[in-house]
Amino acid sequence: MAKNQQTPDDRPGFAIMNGRLMPYADAKISIMAPGLTFAVTIFEGLRGYWNAERGELYIFRLAAHLERMTFGMTLMELDNPPSADDFTYQILEVTRANDIREDCYIRLQAYVDDWGDMTATGPVGSSVICRSRPRVAAFQTGKHFGVASWRRNRDDASPPRIKATANYLNSRLAGLEARNNGHGGAIILNQDGSVAEGPGGCIFLRRGERLITPSVTDGILESVTRDTLIQLARASGRSVEERKVGRTELYPADEMFYCGTGQEITPMLSVDGKPVGSGAPGPVTRELQNDYDALVRGKASLAPGLGEGWLTPVWGNS
Ligand code: PMP
Repeated sequence: MAKNQQTPDDRPGFAIMNGRLMPYADAKISIMAPGLTFAVTIFEGLRGYWNAERGELYIFRLAAHLERMTFGMTLMELDNPPSADDFTYQILEVTRANDIREDCYIRLQAYVDDWGDMTATGPVGSSVICRSRPRVAAFQTGKHFGVASWRRNRDDASPPRIKATANYLNSRLAGLEARNNGHGGAIILNQDGSVAEGPGGCIFLRRGERLITPSVTDGILESVTRDTLIQLARASGRSVEERKVGRTELYPADEMFYCGTGQEITPMLSVDGKPVGSGAPGPVTRELQNDYDALVRGKASLAPGLGEGWLTPVWGNS
C-alpha cells in the first residue's frame, strides 16, 4: 500500500448524504459535480471525545465549527445549503448509527453537485461522516518541521479564512515538500515572509513567559483549537500575543507546538534541522496538552465559565 494511504478499516458503516442515512459505500457524487471539477466545496472537521467513566461521547465545539461552515457556505454562495440545525441533527444521527463509543472524527461537506460551471451555486449536495480516530502518535512524540518554499495563498486570492477544499492545494504542495525533505510537517510563510500556519494546523511559539501565535489576519484559518488554547492559556494566567511572527523568530523559540482538531497539540521538535529549545516537547506544551485533554473530555472545569457549552453529548449519559 502507498505511504500515508488510509486502510479501508477507517471507513464507517454509514454516512449521511443529502440528509439521508445510507451505507457509506452507497454515498457517491457525480463525476461532473462542480464540487469535484472546480473544488466548489466547503467542509469542516470536528472531533468527538470518549469519556469512559460516564460512557459518553462529547462533540467538541460544535457551534464554533458550524458557524465557520455557515460562513464558508455563504461566501461561496451555495444555494440553500443545510442549516446549522440540520448538520447538528445529522452529526448525532450518523454518530449513533455507527455506534461510535471511542474518540472519533466527523467530517461535514457541502458542495455543488451534479453538473455545472465554476460559478454554479446549486444544486447543493452535502455529506456527513463519522469515523473512529484515535489520538495521533505525534501528540506524545512530537514532529520535526521545515519551512516550505511554497507561500500561503493570500486573503484576496484564495482566502485561507474559509475552509474550502480549494485551499488545500497550497497545503498539499507544502506537505509534499516537507515529506520529500524528510520533515514531519511544514511551516508555510505568507507573501511578506512572515509565518502563517501549517498545512492543516496553526502554530504557537513560547519565548520566555510569552506565548505567541500569528494573528487571524496573517493568512490562517480561524482555528477552533487555536482559539481554545488562547482561552485556556489566558485563563491560567499566561500572556498570549496574536501578532505577526517573523521567520527568524522560529529559531530562538523555547518551545513550539502545532494545533488543530485532527492533531490536537503536536510538539514541534525542530525547524529546518535546528532544535526548538531542548529539542524535546516543552513543559508548557505538556501542560496545555493535559488541560486540553481534560477540557475536551469534560473531566475538569479549569476556570470559571471556560468551556461552557463546548461539549455536545451524543449518548445522553451525562
Ligand atoms: N489551519 C488549517 C489550514 C487547517 O486545515 C486546520 C484544520 N481544520 C487548522 C488550521 C486548525 O483548525 P481547527 O483548530 O479549527 O481544526
